[in-house]
Amino acid sequence: MILENYIRDIQDFPKKGITFKDITPLLGNPVAVKECLSMLVKGLEGRPVDKVVGIESRGFFFATLLARELNAGFVPVRKPGKLPFATLSSAYELEYGTDTLEIHTDAIRAGEKVLIHDDVLATGGTASAVCSLVEKLGGEIVECSFIMELSFDTIPKSV
Ligand code: IMP
Repeated sequence: MILENYIRDIQDFPKKGITFKDITPLLGNPVAVKECLSMLVKGLEGRPVDKVVGIESRGFFFATLLARELNAGFVPVRKPGKLPFATLSSAYELEYGTDTLEIHTDAIRAGEKVLIHDDVLATGGTASAVCSLVEKLGGEIVECSFIMELSFDTIPKSV
C-alpha cells in the first residue's frame, strides 16, 4: 500500500502560494490508517515509550492511536490558553513573528520516555519547541515521528 496516495495536495490553502498536504483521505481509510500506524510503530524498533506527545491539532490523530498501541499515556501539546491546568510554554519563530505551544506541567514525570508525534515536519520549528517543553519537564525523548516530511523546496512559508 502506498500511503502517499491517501495524502492530497490542496493548492493555495490556507493562503495563496501554499500547497497544503491534506491527510483526511488517509484518516478516512481504515486500511491506510492501520498501515500508517504500523509503520510509525516499526520506526521505534521496539524501544519502550511511557508517553506519546501529540501536537495540536493534526498530530493528535495518530498520537492517540500510537499511545493505545504502545500502551503509553497520551499528552496533548496545545496552542495558548487551551489547557485548563498549570502550563509550561515555549515560543518559537515563524516567518513573521512567533507562535507559542503549551503543555501541562504534570503531563510528564522526570525520566519518562517520550515519543513526540506530529503529522508534518517542515522547518522543524514546531517539533523543536515541543522537544524543549518535554526536556524542561525532565522527559527523555525517544523519537520524534511524523507521517511525512516536506522537502526543502516544498516547505511552505507559513501554515
Ligand atoms: P514546521 O514547524 O515548519 O516544521 O511545521 C510543521 C507544523 O506545520 C506541523 O504542526 C504541521 O501540522 C503544520 N504543517 C506544515 N505544513 C503542513 C501541510 O502541508 N499540511 C498539514 N500541516 C502542515
